[in-house]
Amino acid sequence: MHAPRGQTDHPQTAGTGPKHKPPLVLFDLDNTLVDRTAGLRQWTEEFTRERGLGTAAVEWIVETDDNGLKPRDHFFAEIRDRFAIGDSAEDLHHAYQQRYPLFLRCPQNVLDQIAQLRESGWRVGVVTNGLTLTQGAVLEHTGLARHLDGWCISEEAGVRKPDPGIFALAAERCGSDLTSGWVCGDSPEADVVGAQLAGLNTIWIRHGRTWSDALPAPDRTADNISEALQALRQIGSPVSPR
Ligand SMILES: [Mg+2]
Repeated sequence: MHAPRGQTDHPQTAGTGPKHKPPLVLFDLDNTLVDRTAGLRQWTEEFTRERGLGTAAVEWIVETDDNGLKPRDHFFAEIRDRFAIGDSAEDLHHAYQQRYPLFLRCPQNVLDQIAQLRESGWRVGVVTNGLTLTQGAVLEHTGLARHLDGWCISEEAGVRKPDPGIFALAAERCGSDLTSGWVCGDSPEADVVGAQLAGLNTIWIRHGRTWSDALPAPDRTADNISEALQALRQIGSPVSPR
């Protein structure tokens, strides 16, 4: 899958001239724009029900998933071994890729706020670590793909957060650059520290957590994605006429 190139339908940035690229915000996907924790649990509940594995299996699988950090081949090999499932880990993963994206949602008010940001001149993209097929299906199913100027998925990009290279590539795909750009995400290391390495401003979605003093602080902190989007609207479009 190829992320779309930057679009040119931003009337407020049409006259900014060659010196300035449109302002940019790059969002993390999992547990930033979509509630991956809830989606993974719903997939797990369906999987364990269909396989007759019992409710205790739900907690075990959710824990083994490790917030998506466990490589999928390991994840499905462990599930297969634990529950003595006859299917191969590859077949289990293939079935997951068909079903899991359907459990992910992006709230309509978040899609609306992204549309408003773009109408006011921002370029909006997604940078996510993960597999191209899975994350691409999530972007399509949630409706996010239609609301973005571009995106980078680490597998197809060949580079992962926190490597600043993935933010630079996403900016290019969105028709912008890293000047005065923002990154918004829930991971202190992958999103905030990675974005800082790329010279970007940062909004950390805290989800009730406290920032570790061992890491350089984000520019802003928000309790959730709606609060982050509100902050971006207040920041405005630094290089585009209002
Ligand atoms: Mg995340």
